Amino acid sequence: MRNDETIRYGFPHISNFCYKPKNAQPVRLSYQKPFFLTEKYTECPVFQQEKIKRLPQDIRGKNIFRKSLLQENKERINTARKKYINANKKVVIARKKRWYMLNKDKAMENKRRRRAKKLGVNENYSSNDRRITMNEFNHHCFNCNNKKELCVDHHRPLNDGNPLTLSNAVVLCKSCNSSKSTKSPEIFYGAKVAKKLDDKLICIAESYKEKGDSNVRRKS
Ligand SMILES: [Zn+2]
Repeated sequence: MRNDETIRYGFPHISNFCYKPKNAQPVRLSYQKPFFLTEKYTECPVFQQEKIKRLPQDIRGKNIFRKSLLQENKERINTARKKYINANKKVVIARKKRWYMLNKDKAMENKRRRRAKKLGVNENYSSNDRRITMNEFNHHCFNCNNKKELCVDHHRPLNDGNPLTLSNAVVLCKSCNSSKSTKSPEIFYGAKVAKKLDDKLICIAESYKEKGDSNVRRKS
């Protein structure tokens, strides 16, 4: 065992990392040899397993990403984060810009969520819901049939307390969306078209509810 170079590759499960060094890492023979690899290895529960499994609970290392642990150390983590951001402003800004360029949809979604939260409206519209809405509107602006610069936005405005859900999401191009702004559908499209769109949206929400889509159920 002591001189067997292959033994450390025998149990390559994530929870079989060694948590004794400061940064948890896979068992490294040069480090572990003097400390942990002794003649008593036959008593090791991992060694006794026929198949590779997770380590038994009592000897497993702490999961550093466990939610409760993060919660407990929230303040400490936030202070460390602020300190890091202050010391590395340029790097952080460059990283944020790169993320924004690669994840524009996600960024828009986050912005919308923050806006809703500010107004005290609870929104659970997921990226999967967004995909459904886009498909249902055939990737065209509902108002002018444009195919470019599309966005998903509220049918009935958020300012009136309407969260974005499958039954309240419409695909509009950038210019139609900005001219609609916070107008009610009746004022923007006219009563007849607004009614037609209302029916279409109810139909979409109902049909995905029937399919048991978890995202639809969450909206209520
Ligand atoms: Zn349009």
